[in-house]
Amino acid sequence: MIIHEIAASLYPWDLHDEPIDRIVDKLTEDSSVNSIYLVGVMHYEKRPLTSLFYTQNPTRKWYAPEDSRVYYGLDPAAFAGTKMKPQHSERDFLRGTDWLDVLVECARRRGLKAGVEISHTFYDTEKAMREMPDVLQKDIHGRPIAQHFCCNNPDVREYMRVLFAQTVKEHDVDFIQTCMMLFHQGEPVKTPWFLPNETDPKLSALLGVVTGGCFCEHCRREAIAMGYDWDAMVEALRALEHVATATPYHHNDQCLSLQLLMDSNLTEAGLLLEYPALQSFLEFRARSITSLFRDIYGAIKRVKPQVEFRYNNYLRYPELAGLSYPHAAPYLDSVRDSDYTEQRPVTDGFAYKRHTLNKIRRAIGCDKPLLAAFAVRPNATPQIIRDSIGQLAQVGVDGFSLGHYDGSTRPLLRAVREAMEEYDITLKEGL
Ligand SMILES: [Zn+2]
Repeated sequence: MIIHEIAASLYPWDLHDEPIDRIVDKLTEDSSVNSIYLVGVMHYEKRPLTSLFYTQNPTRKWYAPEDSRVYYGLDPAAFAGTKMKPQHSERDFLRGTDWLDVLVECARRRGLKAGVEISHTFYDTEKAMREMPDVLQKDIHGRPIAQHFCCNNPDVREYMRVLFAQTVKEHDVDFIQTCMMLFHQGEPVKTPWFLPNETDPKLSALLGVVTGGCFCEHCRREAIAMGYDWDAMVEALRALEHVATATPYHHNDQCLSLQLLMDSNLTEAGLLLEYPALQSFLEFRARSITSLFRDIYGAIKRVKPQVEFRYNNYLRYPELAGLSYPHAAPYLDSVRDSDYTEQRPVTDGFAYKRHTLNKIRRAIGCDKPLLAAFAVRPNATPQIIRDSIGQLAQVGVDGFSLGHYDGSTRPLLRAVREAMEEYDITLKEGL
């Protein structure tokens, strides 16, 4: 099998704490990496995520990032007309350095592809809650949802458009990747009490959508403009939410109905037939996200047509968050799937990983690159990495993406190159 890209993500503090050339030496020698990218806007998440302490960092044991800071330069004048403004790090060791420039300089010097990621969130939730709660999604009761910004709010939409466009305009990157959170999916509904059987995970997730977002005034306006009877749709969804949140002590008049539903074998199609408002709501949100991607894609291409827009899939059921790949595909240049099966005991023979890749491939076609991530971090073993790559050799991926260097070990990194030899995977020369 021939692949074109092996990517690795790096955080600004990785680059501060360890010379970038030493990091890149390891990645290229052990894993044949030919593409590096900066997680340039990072959410509030303890690093490393899946282990107690760093494995490669010579300076610190662990790190707690600020929420949604931008770690590279942006022209403030470009944001003169946006209500939301980029926030940069307030920590002395990070502020004042354009970490994307640091990464790009190294990539160019060493003949590597260079990219940037705007990760799950792009704005500080606490600041938004305090100063402009309007930009956050609302649940069906009108309560703001942390970390989830509403793309139907014109202020959010404008900020995202400018943020993506300016990032590529001001930096010499080959691709811009995002795993931004879309519509809040709600919590999968659990079987309420005393029932022995496992709930069907797909029905449970679908029903959970009514506990997610967004029900804000901007969504209402957009939905009406698209031709939906918003008020009737929300009224029907309220009744369903009443069922979905029932317990013996809350909405208990619906508790038996929920218990019977979750202990039944009703299909998702059955639930949608019974609640057409849920179908309409899913469709409205998919149209909203497709429109968002169209806007961002257009904004990037107007600035630099050659820059690749890559979505980093992290969702088990993307369509429940508003992402319908068949509809969004025209506005994506490539997709990375961030399944990290390797970091847990592998009980399914990598079936979930394979199924997700096939789902995305079916939607984006064979001409657009599809990259498979795998976890080169503790809990994985070199054998698991080799087995995973052996599976990937059979599903026609166009590249790999390592998640993440900050928790990796040399034996795990070396397993990439070893598996490529074992399974006859060749990295195509040139970018
Ligand atoms: Zn909304």
